[in-house]
Amino acid sequence: MNPTGNFAYDVFVNDPPPQDNGLLPNGEPKGGSPVASTLIYGSRDAVLTDPGFTADQAGALGDWLAGKDRNLTDIFITHGHGDHWFAAGLLAERFGARVVATAGTIAQMHVNVAARPLLWDKVYPGIPPSPVTAVTVPGNRFTLEGHDLVIVEVGHADTDDNSVLHVPDLGLVVAGDVIYNGAHMYLGEGVMVGGFGPWRAAIDKVEALGSRHIVAGHQDRHRDDDAERTIAETRQYLDDADDLLKTEPAAVGFFNAKVERYPDHLARTVLWAGASAVYGVREHPGADVSQILVAGWL
Ligand SMILES: [Zn+2]
Repeated sequence: MNPTGNFAYDVFVNDPPPQDNGLLPNGEPKGGSPVASTLIYGSRDAVLTDPGFTADQAGALGDWLAGKDRNLTDIFITHGHGDHWFAAGLLAERFGARVVATAGTIAQMHVNVAARPLLWDKVYPGIPPSPVTAVTVPGNRFTLEGHDLVIVEVGHADTDDNSVLHVPDLGLVVAGDVIYNGAHMYLGEGVMVGGFGPWRAAIDKVEALGSRHIVAGHQDRHRDDDAERTIAETRQYLDDADDLLKTEPAAVGFFNAKVERYPDHLARTVLWAGASAVYGVREHPGADVSQILVAGWL
């Protein structure tokens, strides 16, 4: 019960941090993807999702959060990719909040911490210490002023062990990297699971929740959060990728064709990292796949 009826959400989109590691095939400098954090709040308390990964992002998000004048109880992490959570410790400390994730995500968080020196710290300066302090919650369910927050495990999307946060009373799904919105999708890890079938199955699970609003983890902040549109566009992006993988012989052609089809999409570096991985694995059968995945970002 919420006597005031005050229950809502708001989204803060952090710009990607600066990076300085070369150019894309079209000559533009590499750059990351914006990361969206969702604040779900009642009259006193609030829950935050995916707080970003650099100290600067934590500062910007924290200052926005402080202006909301709510007691932050929990920080929920949708999946293990470091750009969604390496800054969680700073926010947890500043606001005295608990960090929550599924057991699968917690395992992936450890994998991402181990990859920091090979990948994240090579590309992005300014990532704070990132101890894994997340805990699971019983039944994958917690509450905010009496409203259910339901963690739904959807399996592989752009990485293993994704989860989404379903808030039935708001008609909301915080979808992490299962659904994208106006930003290039990371296609690289499809090579680990034989293509995009598992991702499509994860999208189906999100759709089955029947929410009106979806907050995508990577998005163009000028777009709305319409569930039907973002689901359809995410599926279309995968379908286009499968088509282009049949007709484009090399990563550069795939990259150029995607840019042409999605001229307004943000985060072309994410497109290039994924294309490099998919074609790298195709061109080097038997090579170490995780090395190829990392090389796509460097
Ligand atoms: Zn992501």
